[in-house]
Amino acid sequence: MALPYPPAVAGETASTEPAVRADLAVVGAGAAGLFAALTAAREGARVALVSRTPLADTASYWAQGGIAAALAADDSPELHFADTLTAGREAGRPTAARVLCEESPARVRDLEALGVRFDSDRAGALALGLEGGHSRRRVVHAGGSSTGRRVTRELSALAATEERIQVLEPLAAGALWCHEGRCVGVVAVGPGEGALPVLARGVLLATGGAAALWSRTTNPPGAAGTGLSLALAAGAALADLEFTQFHPTALVTGGRREGFLVTEAIRGEGALLLDAYGERFVDELAPRDQVALAVQARMLEQGTDSVGLDVRSVDLARFPNVASALAEVGLDPREPLPVAPAAHYTMGGVTADLDGRSSLPGLFAVGESACTGLHGANRLASNSLAECFVFGRRAALAGLDEPAPADAPAGAPEAEPAALPPRSTREALWRGAGLARDAEGLLELLNDPFPLARSVAAACLAREESRGAHQRRDHPATDPGLEGRHAVVREGVEPRFEHWE
Ligand SMILES: Cc1cc2nc3c(=O)[nH]c(=O)nc-3n(C[C@H](O)[C@H](O)[C@H](O)COP(=O)(O)OP(=O)(O)OC[C@H]3O[C@@H](n4cnc5c(N)ncnc54)[C@H](O)[C@@H]3O)c2cc1C
Repeated sequence: MALPYPPAVAGETASTEPAVRADLAVVGAGAAGLFAALTAAREGARVALVSRTPLADTASYWAQGGIAAALAADDSPELHFADTLTAGREAGRPTAARVLCEESPARVRDLEALGVRFDSDRAGALALGLEGGHSRRRVVHAGGSSTGRRVTRELSALAATEERIQVLEPLAAGALWCHEGRCVGVVAVGPGEGALPVLARGVLLATGGAAALWSRTTNPPGAAGTGLSLALAAGAALADLEFTQFHPTALVTGGRREGFLVTEAIRGEGALLLDAYGERFVDELAPRDQVALAVQARMLEQGTDSVGLDVRSVDLARFPNVASALAEVGLDPREPLPVAPAAHYTMGGVTADLDGRSSLPGLFAVGESACTGLHGANRLASNSLAECFVFGRRAALAGLDEPAPADAPAGAPEAEPAALPPRSTREALWRGAGLARDAEGLLELLNDPFPLARSVAAACLAREESRGAHQRRDHPATDPGLEGRHAVVREGVEPRFEHWE
């Protein structure tokens, strides 16, 4: 679209006259951003949706498993809550987990009302899948392993035609606009020269996670934590950066589709992990951190760069995007598929309360860019899409309660598109802050030129224990004193442990 934004000369402050005024500025158009934008618009609010990329570049579009919600007759939010906290290894925030588990069934119904068609069983009821760490069948899918694609397509079509949502694309938030201790807007920058200041009551970061900071990842390249970097630079607190989930079964191809995720749901349907001798070595449905560590240990023991995933007992017609990825790279599903761990999900992010409020007034964070503490040290499979909808809605409503900013506050900052991490940083993170880390590698990472990589290293160093997704070779035991505590990171300040309220 043609944008009426004023040109900014390099080195000069962007115009303080906002080109766009909205009630809510949403940054990022994945599941969380789209759902939040639609929620606010349906409350009658004007929304500016800043979207850097086309749809297929969001992690949401790539999501294969589904959305966790206690919908079965033998299930309850209480059981879902217990499984979520168990996966989180005593580092989760019970209040956030409770909100998620109680509200996700209603958000699934909302999505149905918005036109998302979930898979059903023969009786016409929602078909519920079983995934690792869940004690009940509770994962809804749309189009088998195409859940993310189906949901984001539906939501983005609605956002594009919703007259109260102004979609600003392809623009990236280059800086948060702060005035007198509040975030009052965002400065969007495009591929050409120029800056577009957007003024709003609330700014909602929905920029996704940071798993693409690591060189081996299941995520799209843009998932490098730009929202976290923006928040950090504006003085907001981040938390739980030491907790990155490594998915155990990402394809090893050495070329195209490297890191392609073979969904956990396939193990839920009976796929087996086999070592170099064709032996099983782990309970395939154990929580992800345990499976990933077992895979890595077996690879090290046997000197291989992958283990085998035997999918012969699984009907791949139910997983069409897995089948097409295998066909694309010429892998025969009658043979064990070469898989190995890859960075997949960042439990940490911008510290957020139960309505998505960050520590900076006016700034909210939702979806994978946020850290509500819900996941603790390890995310339960399929809780993240549920999080996007549950907390996306809550934050959108809370953002509308913020006071309207003054007409044209002075001092919109200069902005430029956030830099993506160089290859050297991504490799340094894989080496120094991979599945198992120690002080030596982390101290080296503290010197990395990429600020967010240094923050990750500082958080990993501060947590001198092993818990869930954070495994220290030099501190292999769990420290009971760190139970229920999260490491808060701010720009230029040593991480500090705090209790969730
Ligand atoms: C392969 C794969 C499979 C997965 N499967 C599942 C699953 O089955 N179930 C589940 O619950 N979770 C799954 N996950 C995790 C889940 O998909 C993500 O946690 C979730 O989709 C994150 O949604 P989001 O809206 O927070 O971020 P995203 O979907 O990543 O969207 C963020 C958007 O923000 C944009 N953006 C970033 N920075 C800027 C900026 N500065 N300005 C403007 N825009 C910006 C990005 O380009 C992107 O479009 C999977 C993840 C992957 C990678």
